[in-house]
Amino acid sequence: LLVNTACSNASLIEKSTASTNVKLTSDEKKIYVGFLLDTLKDERWYKDKALFEEHIVSLGGNVKTLAANGLDDVQIKQAELLIDEGADVLVVVPHDAEVSATIVKLAHKAGIKVISYDRLIRNAELDYYISFDNEKVGEIQATEVLNQVTKGSFAYIGGAESDNNAILFRQGAMNVLQPFIDKGEINLVYDQYTKEWEPKIAEKNMLEALKKGKNQIDAVIAANDGTAGGVIQSLSTIGLAGKIPVSGQDAELAGIHRIIEGTQTMTVYKPIPVLAAEAAEMAIKVGKGEQIDTNNKVNNGQIDVPSVLLEPVAVTKDNIVDTVIKDGYLTEEEVYK
Ligand code: BGC
Repeated sequence: LLVNTACSNASLIEKSTASTNVKLTSDEKKIYVGFLLDTLKDERWYKDKALFEEHIVSLGGNVKTLAANGLDDVQIKQAELLIDEGADVLVVVPHDAEVSATIVKLAHKAGIKVISYDRLIRNAELDYYISFDNEKVGEIQATEVLNQVTKGSFAYIGGAESDNNAILFRQGAMNVLQPFIDKGEINLVYDQYTKEWEPKIAEKNMLEALKKGKNQIDAVIAANDGTAGGVIQSLSTIGLAGKIPVSGQDAELAGIHRIIEGTQTMTVYKPIPVLAAEAAEMAIKVGKGEQIDTNNKVNNGQIDVPSVLLEPVAVTKDNIVDTVIKDGYLTEEEVYK
């Protein structure tokens, strides 16, 4: 998506205005929460949006969600917009971990606190962070792949380097793989981040990995279901889809379908319903100026940010029903259609 002009940026902002719950004079007493998403491209963010909005409203607040379509300047503009509208608190999924520090500065200038949602805003006086144990996500991915294959040529197809989570996912995977690499049992023939988490780029990178490995790749750690989809597309061109393990993340419907058909080994389910509910509660409290209990501190390069970190869950063919379906995250009907 190429949007450079101020004019189309403005219309983009308008178009991505998802909810009409602008703070009205009659709502003066309601806490107004601004929710800034990087993108709605991956399926999970639709769920984050719907669940988060639902919780804010049920807690008596107002919420407006804006998505920046992967553009830093748009995300900053959207933050300004919500601040001008009188938001009491901003909840942000940053597109770029570093650039988004500007949003914290702008919010603080207006006396508003910022909660980093799922992804960390780095090098800023961030107020709170709520996410999952993201290094553990990577550990789970590598562990599940090693349950299938423990030696040979491996490829790592990561997320977007501008996203702090992508760094943590890779770190987690390497924690598990490194001892095998050191013993010479695993040869990491390819190790690349994927620009903007774009499945098409993951697909292209996987072709490069196959070329480097002379088509002899034994396992792939893909950072999420989107990139896994691209990887599996490339594997299918040489008949390797379903023959070697591939990891994923997000419990996207397409990923779950691939797990059932056998082309993807696993996904990581991060209970979004819990994340959205806890973040909404946090946002309302912070908006009211109340103190928050957190169980963690995460250093963002500048400060130790009071944080809540939730547990990710490994999902394979065997526990789809007991995890994503049980939680109502996906329905049995859509999974086993
Ligand atoms: C999220 C993942 C998601 C990815 C791409 C990451 O920050 O944690 O769940 O797949 O962004 O949107």
